[in-house]
Amino acid sequence: MRKFYEIATPAYICEEQRLESNLKTLDRVQRESGAKILLALKGYAMWSTFETVGQYLHGCTASGLHEAILAREEMGKEVHTYSPAFKECDIEEIARISDHIVFNSPQQLERYFSKAKAVNPAVSVSMRINPEYASSPVDLYNPCGLYSRLGTTAQQFNPSQLSKLDGLNFHALCEQNVDALEGVLDAFESKFGHCFSGLKYVNFGGGHHITRSDYDVERLIEVILDFRERHEGIDVYLEPGEAVGWQTGPLVSTVLDIVHNGMDIAILDVSAEAHMPDTLAMPYRAEVRDAAEAGKKPYTYRLGGNTCLAGDIMGDYSFDAPLKIGDQIVFEDQMHYTFVKNTTFNGVQLPALAIKRKSGIIDVVRRFGYADYQRRLS
Ligand SMILES: *Cc1c(COP(=O)(O)O)cnc(C)c1O
Repeated sequence: MRKFYEIATPAYICEEQRLESNLKTLDRVQRESGAKILLALKGYAMWSTFETVGQYLHGCTASGLHEAILAREEMGKEVHTYSPAFKECDIEEIARISDHIVFNSPQQLERYFSKAKAVNPAVSVSMRINPEYASSPVDLYNPCGLYSRLGTTAQQFNPSQLSKLDGLNFHALCEQNVDALEGVLDAFESKFGHCFSGLKYVNFGGGHHITRSDYDVERLIEVILDFRERHEGIDVYLEPGEAVGWQTGPLVSTVLDIVHNGMDIAILDVSAEAHMPDTLAMPYRAEVRDAAEAGKKPYTYRLGGNTCLAGDIMGDYSFDAPLKIGDQIVFEDQMHYTFVKNTTFNGVQLPALAIKRKSGIIDVVRRFGYADYQRRLS
């Protein structure tokens, strides 16, 4: 039987060494550019690694009450909370535990500014603007697409509110390199540059693929330094999610059965729909360890999930040897936008969360069971 890890599957395994290597790259950007980097919890929220993350990054970006509590309790550094729309019943608690609140619209700012300041006079207030510069590769992940609700456009922006604002945020990228940031910055500065006096910071959002091997880190540092020189006294924040978890570990699964219908099909103890949703939503093809495109190696299989959804398919992959029941199938790079989105659809098992320590030991930090399924229903 092909076994890569001594672990009961399914399981996500975060490799501490790789996480630290990403954090070191991000820290280099912080040190050489003077920018502050936050972890966007939306993309990566394995809080048992936050002690490590917190040694490098300045804090977290949360998208509402629950992420804000997690940021406060599990990392305890800066908490920046943005939501497309805050709710009345949450705003006081959010203001209490956040260092920065980011409003999405002039109405939200108007509605909640005094309430937030009353609870936490020290809270910084920012507004997310929409630079209307769209270069994201996929509509689903394009915050500046047609009719986007995310961020206030220059036309809707109300300059009379500037006295309430300490910062401006934008988030316009998705898995992009620094050239895309330069395009957004141009659009941002030409549309909002006249609003900068009095601001303490600008937040360049996420979507910077800083830890990808072909990302131009040098240029990012230059771009930030140039911005800070043009706008003296304004701090820069970045808040990547994916770049923190990028290439830090796999999702490990096991072949449960092999069936034949026009081709060989392996049924695994994971689900594309429930455990690796971007393979269907983006869509993209996950890399499988020791496998190749269909037909490249002698034995080709369709890899399918253990749900009753017909389209729960990870793709077609070829292997050097026939697959056997009990073989492990290792999907690479499954630490971002996976377990943060997991569902118990069809009652399938939620994969365990594990950390591979630098010593090589694998600690399973969380196992899930029936109770997790049952508790979400009534
Ligand atoms: C999703 C998101 C991020 C993180 O984006 P990544 O692509 O994971 O880097 C940062 N800021 C905001 C406002 C977001 O919505």
